[in-house]
Amino acid sequence: MLTGKTLCDFAELALKIGVNLQKGQGLEIVCPTEKSDVAEAIALKAYEIGAKIVRVRWENDKTDRINYLHADKDALCEVPKWYVDSKNYLLKNDFCYIAIAAEDPSAFKDVPEERLAAVAKARGKKLKKYFDEVMANGIRWCVISVPTEDWAKQVFPNRENPVEKLSEAIEKTMRLDKKDPVKEWRKHIEKLNVHAQFLNDANFEYLHFENSKGTDLYVGLAIDHVWISAEEKAKDGVPFVANMPTEEVFTAPHNKKIDGVVKSALPLCYNGQIIDDFSLTFKKGRIVDFSAAKGYGLLKNLINTDSGTKSLGEVALIGKNSPIAQSKILFYNTLFDENASCHIAIGQGYPTTVKNGENLSAKEKKEKGLNDSIEHVDFMIGTPDLKVTGITFDGKQIPVFRNGEWVI
Ligand code: ZN
Ligand code: ZN
Repeated sequence: MLTGKTLCDFAELALKIGVNLQKGQGLEIVCPTEKSDVAEAIALKAYEIGAKIVRVRWENDKTDRINYLHADKDALCEVPKWYVDSKNYLLKNDFCYIAIAAEDPSAFKDVPEERLAAVAKARGKKLKKYFDEVMANGIRWCVISVPTEDWAKQVFPNRENPVEKLSEAIEKTMRLDKKDPVKEWRKHIEKLNVHAQFLNDANFEYLHFENSKGTDLYVGLAIDHVWISAEEKAKDGVPFVANMPTEEVFTAPHNKKIDGVVKSALPLCYNGQIIDDFSLTFKKGRIVDFSAAKGYGLLKNLINTDSGTKSLGEVALIGKNSPIAQSKILFYNTLFDENASCHIAIGQGYPTTVKNGENLSAKEKKEKGLNDSIEHVDFMIGTPDLKVTGITFDGKQIPVFRNGEWVI
């Protein structure tokens, strides 16, 4: 269970490997109210490392749901200035932040989709500047997860002690079962770097994804794209790991060079609701058709958010033998599920995934094919039989994945 020494190690990982908290720096923790023990452990450890101040932003799915259901719609969509200011405050004052993602995957299942979409859109618009800075590594951040009752019940329905089971699974994927988790993470980061290096050297023009589910998709890569793995450098030059766990190597697609059909491999949990068994058809980088056996309306709202949600901002490769994939658990949480399977993201591309991207103007980023949006939603496309072939600018075809695993 995430208590005692394990919780202490967990806090240390998030601070030392995750945000890489520096002496004298401020830290914000975004934490569900029911997990205050985790925020406490992180705060204590942070001061041990030398934090200047630790501030906690409390969240609660259940009161959020009540608001979604009953609040006046205009008031619900209003994003107060103090809220926007409180986010920008982090940037201005050189804070880093740790977000604890532990939502109940169906917390908002009875909320009308259009209310969820309206709030997401309003928030996205008002926080665009902040969001752009986060995406450009203007702040060091890290997302981690801890089990909550409602989430665990969805992952392990009809099982005894679901929280304990989910806790065990998270500890394994976080390498907390190892003697020295920080050291294990350093080794893991090195291993991922090898794959990123290979892809950067190859400088493919396209990746071709194929599987027996019907995926047949060409994803062109952005001009001057850079493949990134676990560890990134923030604008201040300090390395950090944004997602823990992470198994992915990812880059930016070219948003005018995506063609073909892609089928989802796992359900997507979006805005507290589930989209499943869906497919997207692309032509010249735009989604021109889509279908979903479950959550069609949600998918439609997502795609219609803005012009950037009709294209892709990320393509990520993960082998089927990664510890998360091996666990064979469907977590209903993108942090874990996206690390079990190759994925692509609808919406915003990371400026860091093109050379010198943090310093490019909006026009320059557009010319590279980097997608711009207020959304960034990952969904899983990797199956055990997935084939990925890299295509070079002179037409050479090089196998990257066969049967769902790296071949390099
Ligand atoms: Zn990703
Ligand atoms: Zn992503």
